[in-house]
Amino acid sequence: MVRLLLVEDDPDIRRTLARGLGEHGATVVPVASAVEAIKAVSSERPDAVVLDLGLPDLDGSDVLALIRAGSDLPVVVATARDDEREIVRLLDAGADDYLIKPFSAAQVMARVRAVLRRATPVAQQDSRVVVGDLVVDPVSRTALLEDRELTLNRKEFDLLFALASRSGEVVTKRQLLAEVWQMPWGGADRTVDVHLSWLRRKLGETAAAPRYLVSVRGVGVKLVDPKGS
Ligand code: CA
Repeated sequence: MVRLLLVEDDPDIRRTLARGLGEHGATVVPVASAVEAIKAVSSERPDAVVLDLGLPDLDGSDVLALIRAGSDLPVVVATARDDEREIVRLLDAGADDYLIKPFSAAQVMARVRAVLRRATPVAQQDSRVVVGDLVVDPVSRTALLEDRELTLNRKEFDLLFALASRSGEVVTKRQLLAEVWQMPWGGADRTVDVHLSWLRRKLGETAAAPRYLVSVRGVGVKLVDPKGS
């Protein structure tokens, strides 16, 4: 399931698009201003952003710059201006794709799926990883546990894949920050801890009673086959 942050100040467009995107299987977080959008990028942890450029408080391209300053979150900009120079400028400024108004929810979903595919590093595109009853597929970005699909956000999936693709090995938080969060110089270990606890919950386990995710105190974490092999 894709979690989409929809930034659109026009209430009619926002409502119609949010409903349409929901019908296409997305979880939509609708916001109406640049300030709300910036907040929601960190508080709502979306997989991608659909960003209207004409906002009441800040220009959308400033919002794009603020998002780009802190992350590589995929952003599709929505513009009413069919202006090639403007579009080129936005793509150069870090937009992943663009839509020209008016557009349908189906078009938005197609663009979002495409940018999410491109956001998956080539190194991850080889194949599925199977550990016990857990199957992680980096191409479709799906994870199955006992044949049941897990609902993971982008970072949770990346974290699971980073651990599953070298199952049995202890991976340090520093390595995970570098690989999953692109923060090679470290950062908050809390970030890793919080995502690990979310991932544990989704795998139906706890730190106290681990199955797949085993913490190695003072070192890091490893993903193991709970049936051991
Ligand atoms: Ca607008």
